[in-house]
Amino acid sequence: MKFIDVAKYFDNIEKTTKRLEMFDILSNLFKETPNENIDKIIYICQEQIKPPFESLKIDMAEKMLQKSIARATGVSLKKVIELYKNKGDLGLVAEELSKAQKSKLIQPDELTLIDVYDSFLKTAKSSGVGSVDIKISIIAGILGRAKPLEAKYICRFIIGKLRLGVGDPTLMDSLSKAKIGDRSLREKIEKAYNLCSDLGEVAKKLFIEDIESLEKFKITPGKPIRMALAERLSTPEEIIEKIGKCAVEGKYDGFRLQCHKIGKQVKIFSRNLEEISYMFPEIVHSIKKYIKSEKAIIEGEAIVYNEATEELMPFQVTMTRKRKYEIDKKSKELPLKLFIFDLLYINGKDYTEKPLRERIKLMEKNIELGNGLELAERIITENPEEVDRFFENVISRGLEGVLAKRLDAGYSAGGRNYDWIKLKRGYKGDLTDTIDVVIIGYIKGRGARAKFGIGALLAGVYDKKEDSFKSIARIGSGFSEEKWQELKSELDKISLKQKPARIESEIKPDVWVEPKYVIEVAADEITKSPMHTAGRTEKESGYALRFPRAKSFIRVDKKAEDATSVEEIKKMHKMQSDV
Ligand code: AMP
Repeated sequence: MKFIDVAKYFDNIEKTTKRLEMFDILSNLFKETPNENIDKIIYICQEQIKPPFESLKIDMAEKMLQKSIARATGVSLKKVIELYKNKGDLGLVAEELSKAQKSKLIQPDELTLIDVYDSFLKTAKSSGVGSVDIKISIIAGILGRAKPLEAKYICRFIIGKLRLGVGDPTLMDSLSKAKIGDRSLREKIEKAYNLCSDLGEVAKKLFIEDIESLEKFKITPGKPIRMALAERLSTPEEIIEKIGKCAVEGKYDGFRLQCHKIGKQVKIFSRNLEEISYMFPEIVHSIKKYIKSEKAIIEGEAIVYNEATEELMPFQVTMTRKRKYEIDKKSKELPLKLFIFDLLYINGKDYTEKPLRERIKLMEKNIELGNGLELAERIITENPEEVDRFFENVISRGLEGVLAKRLDAGYSAGGRNYDWIKLKRGYKGDLTDTIDVVIIGYIKGRGARAKFGIGALLAGVYDKKEDSFKSIARIGSGFSEEKWQELKSELDKISLKQKPARIESEIKPDVWVEPKYVIEVAADEITKSPMHTAGRTEKESGYALRFPRAKSFIRVDKKAEDATSVEEIKKMHKMQSDV
């Protein structure tokens, strides 16, 4: 496949503001891609080279890419920097310089998708001494052969600003359409994706093999399983009414970790499915030594724990363990304890479809406790009063609440349903629970803050069915002056000239941004409002947050699609009015 064809598809995606059109363009792209290369196209659309858990990044700073552009187009670095100042997009810089240069050539080279992908791969794999020069020259080589439109997308990909704005759900729908003409394969594709977190691999199975092979898809230790999530209810009575006798566990507030033991190796994955084993050497050590099986997958929440006082530390303290430097020192100063709450694979067997009841027994049998490994505190009950007592007890020890889990349910990879139900303080009436919103734009503002150029954020929630983001609030408080400034500079890096296809909003902010950053907000209540598009239908107006205020800065552990969903907002609104 010629890369120029891929670039033309990208150009069309960039131009459309309609989600359905984007879906058609993508499915045509997938149809045209040779089966054996479908994984590469998927990775590029996801702005990665391999699935995220392989942690393979191109790792080229803007300065390096500027040098590659200069070398490829025969102009000085100074000229590249000048043009960049003017255009603010290295893709456009490369496109323009390449136009000027290519007009001199009689017969430009034909780049293939593989040429481009391999150059990305080689660049990502070169590391250590001398790698800066190697990376610059590989990319200069490919840019030297690229047509202007190709150069634009190659450069944007390299610095992580491809900004096609397509989410995984749209990619899955488009794969289905490319294969059989409609979206009906989506569920099967998603199921396989949930088990391996590698959409490239799933697409390849579908296109090279067949639909049946998707159905037989199995988990593999070493590849993360997309994590199960919880629904919420507001009282113990509702929980017992919904799922009957259940396991009720403490809800720990730390890092969610999925730990894979594969022989002598241990891989730990974050909620975002990135491999972060290097951050937690004490947990790696304990799993290697105290889980008695060649291969195993367990899940738990890790929290900094004070052995002497038996105290769990607050989230802010645990967060300091997310770091790149001084890891050994910190692991001794602030050791983590892993509160294990699930076991998905052990002794060569996949237990994701077995009932929780059975998985609990396996956990109790196969994990040697102590040494930083603990089982999550748990009772089994069908009595709401007992749930309430347990709830009050864990709250008094600094936990966030409880999770009630259906005893006969398998593990819902990648799903949020009533197999797991969370109960936190504050679900009872007023909205003291926070909501995770995605920033979709900002308003420059008047008054005191106008001097920073940012007065309020326009924020949205995620509509899962449509794979789009819908507005729910303007947020103008909760940050310090420094934080507003920092936020503005981060948002300017992802600003867009026009509303992207996946955002739906009546309110037009001064600056649209790529839906990327999630922040936590508190509000007094969820109200109905004709201004916002979250939950809006032809007959009903949308939902809005009353007096929203930011409670956190950008949440690095959450992707835009992990924000609170429209469905959840609807349920929270109902809970409020039920009281
Ligand atoms: P939330 O992030 O509020 O949707 O709550 C779900 C999160 O609670 C999970 O993603 C875990 O990180 C965390 N958690 C804490 N304790 C447990 C537990 N016992 N079982 C499952 N998840 C837990």
